[in-house]
Amino acid sequence: MITVSQRTISSKISCCGIGLHSGLNVSLTLSPAPVDTGVVFRRTDMLALAAIIEANYKNVSETTLGTTISNLYGAKVSTIEHLMAAIWGCGIDNIFIDINGPEVPIMDGSSEPFVFLIECAGIHIQDKSRRVIEIMEKISITDNDKVISVEPSREFVVDLHIDFSHEQIKQQKFDYHSTYASFKNDLSRARTFGFKHEIEKLHQMGLARGGSLENAILVDEKGVVNKEGLRYSNEFVRHKTLDFIGDTYLAGHYIIGHFSASKAGHAINNKMLHQIFSKQSAWRLV
Ligand SMILES: [Zn+2]
Repeated sequence: MITVSQRTISSKISCCGIGLHSGLNVSLTLSPAPVDTGVVFRRTDMLALAAIIEANYKNVSETTLGTTISNLYGAKVSTIEHLMAAIWGCGIDNIFIDINGPEVPIMDGSSEPFVFLIECAGIHIQDKSRRVIEIMEKISITDNDKVISVEPSREFVVDLHIDFSHEQIKQQKFDYHSTYASFKNDLSRARTFGFKHEIEKLHQMGLARGGSLENAILVDEKGVVNKEGLRYSNEFVRHKTLDFIGDTYLAGHYIIGHFSASKAGHAINNKMLHQIFSKQSAWRLV
């Protein structure tokens, strides 16, 4: 296997925006971090030690329409998956994410604004080699009609399949082989989506308060409501692949393995990581 150095960003960079579910305006700053830090969120509106939340699958506390991580002090950050996917896609190992509220801004509903931010900050190659998680045995997990399996492979691959009863989406499949260019071109621009008939229910649950046609694809019985249409003909399955990647980066390291997922979602994505790490013979850190 080729040895790759760990990477962080070269300088601090900030953005602000609205939380998709909370509707709160927040500002977020990405900063360089030392080797072996990983991805670490810090709530700048809370006291220092209590404010630190490591982006790790063990810290996932909620998976309803997004992935939320929390710490023992009750600090939490939600809807982290599109930012996590961008960090993964840009090849960043170590980064601090300072945020002054409980939810990552949704930006345009995709990972592209975060990729742009990281590119503007620049990438800094660090003086220590990267360790990756290599899958050693096939692992499968099912949750009702959802299925994910992973098996040994020489690269990171995701074959993802979705099946919505909605006429406008139905079945879509996407095979993703990881390279930086393919992440940026094929996945990073895919936006989150929602159904018009579910909005009222979501609002009653306190969700989607910040949602708009600026940050999500809205689908009704006739089709896509957004005037600009879709960015890719199969944008829905591409976005689910992006979510999957963001969630799997909570492993704490890059994973080398071949994933196949049918109807994957944040809850089963997290269960899968627990399943992999509960079986010592299934993986190794190299
Ligand atoms: Zn998403």
